[in-house]
Amino acid sequence: MRIVPSTSLLVMLLAGCIGETPEAIARAQTAAARDTAPLEIRFLDVGQGDAILIRSGDKVALVDAGSSDNVVQKLRVAGVDHIDLAVASHNHSDHIGGMDAVLDSLPVRTYLDNGYPATTRIQTRVLQRVEAKNITYLQPTARTIGLGSATLRVLPPARLPGDAEEQNNRSVGLIVEQGTFRALLTGDSETQAINGWLEANMIPDVDVLKAAHHGSRNGVTRAWLARTRPEVVIISLGGDNSYGHPHVAALRLYCAGGRRVFRTDWHGDVVVSVEPSGRYQVRATRTTPPRATPRSPRRASGRARTAAGTPPGCGVRP
Ligand SMILES: [Zn+2]
Repeated sequence: MRIVPSTSLLVMLLAGCIGETPEAIARAQTAAARDTAPLEIRFLDVGQGDAILIRSGDKVALVDAGSSDNVVQKLRVAGVDHIDLAVASHNHSDHIGGMDAVLDSLPVRTYLDNGYPATTRIQTRVLQRVEAKNITYLQPTARTIGLGSATLRVLPPARLPGDAEEQNNRSVGLIVEQGTFRALLTGDSETQAINGWLEANMIPDVDVLKAAHHGSRNGVTRAWLARTRPEVVIISLGGDNSYGHPHVAALRLYCAGGRRVFRTDWHGDVVVSVEPSGRYQVRATRTTPPRATPRSPRRASGRARTAAGTPPGCGVRP
């Protein structure tokens, strides 16, 4: 018969703590639990925008905060009572519109953004709070940040010539790793940014890819997918948005080869659960099909696409 030691005994053996104090044993147990905690990446349905909650054990990161204060309620419903790391992929309002409310509502330990000012009122409000609340500001350098048993690798934003307003292409990227699992989040990066990361050989193959720029055609190329080789693509966007996201050309690329494509406008929150080994599964929180949206005259022209504009067989149907 195979003898399986109990968790407590295992912790004691691992920690070499025979004869240690109860406090030391408790600390070792906490550390062991953190090292084996499952990872959850929750793509929150915040309409047209991004807000991605990453949790490992009791450690919490939030990547972007949607366009409005509503994100705070979504975080509370998810049971979030603090944030260890808040990240702004870039400083457009559909990514940091709710960040000031988050900083006002929850204790936040560290804040990382792309380091490029957008000279917008919302970014000013956010950075004022970072300073006033003594939140540690992190530069978007090529650093590695531990989050429980997961690791976040920062992809510094592209260095672009000139002083043009290029927030999208200056998005900071993140690779989320646990065991053999990897997910890639790159904000609203467009072709210039993703080509720069490819040329710098900074992009690994991944299991889950967040579609850049809400499924825009300028956020994906064949070369990007050939390098990242995702099994699952998740698009964060609002239904019937005025940008026509997701673009049909992008959907065709994402869906090629049988990749599973989830969309927050169809599926609500999309949750990726990762075991310590790296095995993962993806589930949608909404399982009923989206209501058909009456098309406005402009949409009838074909500029904007809804579910009706989706290539046949593309996307996991709710
Ligand atoms: Zn955006």
